[in-house]
Amino acid sequence: MVPLQEHSFIREQLLLQLDEVDLTWDLIVIGGGATGLGVALDAVTRGYKTLLIEQSDFAKGTSSRSTKLVHGGVRYLAQGNIRLVREATIERGLLRRNAPHLVKNQTFIIPVYSYLNMLKYAAGLKLYDWIAGRLSLGSSVFISRNKTMQSIPGINTHGLLGGILYHDGQFDDSRLAINLAQTILNNGGFAINYMKVTGLLKDEDQKINGALIKDAESGKKYKVKAKAVVNATGVFVDDILKIDNSSAEKTICVSQGVHLVLDKKFYPSEHALMIPETSDGRVLFAVPWHKKVVVGTTDTLVDDASLEPQASEKEISFILETASHYFTDKPLRSDVLSVFAGLRPLAAPQKGGQKTKEISRSHKIIVSGSKLFTILGGKWTTYRKMGEDMVNRIETELNWNKKKTTTPSMHIHGYAEEVNWDDPLYFYGSDLAKMRERMNGEECISNSLKIYEVQVQWAVQYEMARTVEDVLSRRTRALLLNAVESIRIAPQVAQIMANQLKKDERWIKQQVESYTKLANQYILK
Ligand SMILES: Cc1cc2nc3c(=O)[nH]c(=O)nc-3n(C[C@H](O)[C@H](O)[C@H](O)COP(=O)(O)OP(=O)(O)OC[C@H]3O[C@@H](n4cnc5c(N)ncnc54)[C@H](O)[C@@H]3O)c2cc1C
Repeated sequence: MVPLQEHSFIREQLLLQLDEVDLTWDLIVIGGGATGLGVALDAVTRGYKTLLIEQSDFAKGTSSRSTKLVHGGVRYLAQGNIRLVREATIERGLLRRNAPHLVKNQTFIIPVYSYLNMLKYAAGLKLYDWIAGRLSLGSSVFISRNKTMQSIPGINTHGLLGGILYHDGQFDDSRLAINLAQTILNNGGFAINYMKVTGLLKDEDQKINGALIKDAESGKKYKVKAKAVVNATGVFVDDILKIDNSSAEKTICVSQGVHLVLDKKFYPSEHALMIPETSDGRVLFAVPWHKKVVVGTTDTLVDDASLEPQASEKEISFILETASHYFTDKPLRSDVLSVFAGLRPLAAPQKGGQKTKEISRSHKIIVSGSKLFTILGGKWTTYRKMGEDMVNRIETELNWNKKKTTTPSMHIHGYAEEVNWDDPLYFYGSDLAKMRERMNGEECISNSLKIYEVQVQWAVQYEMARTVEDVLSRRTRALLLNAVESIRIAPQVAQIMANQLKKDERWIKQQVESYTKLANQYILK
């Protein structure tokens, strides 16, 4: 069993190291989402002295706002992108092996209403199974009209011929991010939240040799030396590229995806639903998640990147309207338990104006003249391969001795072979037994969401939670599962955290106020 490290101790230890003027890190990774965590884990486990810096909380950005799928990307098959699908299905299989406490084998159904589509999807999914090879999660099969109606009780039966059932992975995104940060710490690296990179240091040849870092809590600034700096800031990559070179060209445009969370009663199925082509040609999923159902997503270009993107009325109405064709009852706005939006960086269109959907979703590495290493694109599913590719590239560019990655078979913190998916606390994996010991018959602070006081203490002590939002949004998923209920328990969570972190009444008041303001944006009025 992997030892747990007390977070307050880690933060103190790191702050001491940041004060050491003679210390040079091998790698500073900017960004604590899927990509940065993947790069930092690969680097530290190759033996490099690694520091990951996240300006807010781990997975605060896109990495807590995904559709929660660990998937090969069926839709990329339609675009003929077999290489991308092959890479993603391998990664899907590796992630399921390395984090079996978080990645579940999920069946999906595509309902079919025409013989042409039946042939198209059946053949496509057989190819999908074949591409995955021995890492396949199960074979796709055709299911009858009756079986489809039983599996999706609310489905529109007019013209229904049957369905294609296939397998993909389903996971908890921010929990995986936290477990990855813990794995980095367990391997001797540092992954720290609430620290921001505000500048880059360069030597006399104008090559990058460190970063300026600001502690978001104390305001203290540090000059930190490093042999390589990686920009893994998702939709914010251009901000760092501009710090490196004020005349750098824009590399990305930003596309927004929105999800709604509804009660399971609207979609009381154990199978996820996949609609390959909605009325306007998009893909829509309804995925069972923590005893609720997540429905989405949209794909809309937006002007600016933000850590708290807002869903538009148009996106919300589109999802509600489309979902109602497959659900037992037509969900109303008042039925939505939470609405969340996430931003995807897409390669900025070149001249000739491609549409966002047509732009490749594979990842991309950019090395600037001053040797800033930028990595963007890809998906959660391929975070490990992105990390491996990035570290390989750094070794090549900086003429380091080549070391082999060990992440393909590395267990992620929390790894547990036996998982009871019906247990509301299943996602703690190997930490669960220790946590239960502490519970000792304790009452839930939220009965409906099954959240216990011990989880809050645990989040502060071992999972680097610093704010009420960290606990309610990313250590537990209360904000996404029921935003109203999360606001109700926020004062209790703040009190428990204050006891752990030795904070005063003013901190509690400020935390509850700012959390309530934020959570209100996840509620449809
Ligand atoms: C709507 C939607 C649904 C998706 N669904 C899926 C899915 O089901 N399955 C899948 O595999 N993929 C999915 N993806 C893709 C996947 O979520 C992303 O590829 C992945 O989360 C991107 O991670 P990232 O680390 O690159 O970016 P982010 O998660 O945005 O992380 C970047 C981080 O950098 C930090 N940062 C920025 N500037 C600084 C600075 N100066 N100093 C320090 N830190 C900084 C930010 O705070 C942020 O936390 C989805 C994407 C979207 C948009």
